[in-house]
Amino acid sequence: MFSFVADLLFPGVCLSCDRGLSPPGDDFFGALPGGWPEASPEFFRTDFFHAVLGPLKVPARVLCEDCWLSLVPAEDGFRLGGDPPIPAISPFLTGPALLEVIRFLKFRGGRSAAQPLSWWLAFSLRRHLEAEGGTGAPDPVLVPVPLFHSRLAERGYNQAELLARRTAGLLGLEYCPRALRRTRNTRPQSKLGGPQRTVNVRGAFEAEPAAVEGRRVVVVDDLLTTGETMLACVAALLPCRPLAIEVLTVGRGSDR
Ligand SMILES: [Zn+2]
Repeated sequence: MFSFVADLLFPGVCLSCDRGLSPPGDDFFGALPGGWPEASPEFFRTDFFHAVLGPLKVPARVLCEDCWLSLVPAEDGFRLGGDPPIPAISPFLTGPALLEVIRFLKFRGGRSAAQPLSWWLAFSLRRHLEAEGGTGAPDPVLVPVPLFHSRLAERGYNQAELLARRTAGLLGLEYCPRALRRTRNTRPQSKLGGPQRTVNVRGAFEAEPAAVEGRRVVVVDDLLTTGETMLACVAALLPCRPLAIEVLTVGRGSDR
């Protein structure tokens, strides 16, 4: 209930700088051109960027133009430590403006933020898949990091599910929310220090072998911070013998 009301009451100001956003325009996806842009940091400063973000409906815009442009693009090719190293794909490095959007999505009922964020996830995943060579590589299945059922009931939705489902829809990929489940409640990683984060999520996930075996799996979450949650998901997936595992998040830390 609360999240529904909060979404409706979103005041139409930039989440990062409080500047008023312009009136609603056409549907966001209606503004997308047929093709995908060249993958480069310069993309973020092109007219295309403005053409995509300009017509967003106010509740989905979440940031003003200047704050969108303040986000730092993340380069492809990053790998999450572990054995084996896991390709970690993100459109952005995590910074103050992006954190405001993620907090809105997770803690203030701001489900509308999943719309533009999913577009960027789709953009980055597409860029990654094309860079991987494409030919012969199977399409991945998108799997959200699950919430424990009590937290899901509290929040009313899982933000990782919103992101994974929309991203899969944009790219025409399979979406499988049941491939991973959280077997016990964990404390919010954001409230813990480094070593505690590892212990907190270790063994907290189980995978469904039938959904994973022989598949290329992309695990989707909002942010990659220390990576412990993702590594715990990977540890649950590996015994199910997936063909490959990659992780996809809206933002990642710049220090790894
Ligand atoms: Zn702003």
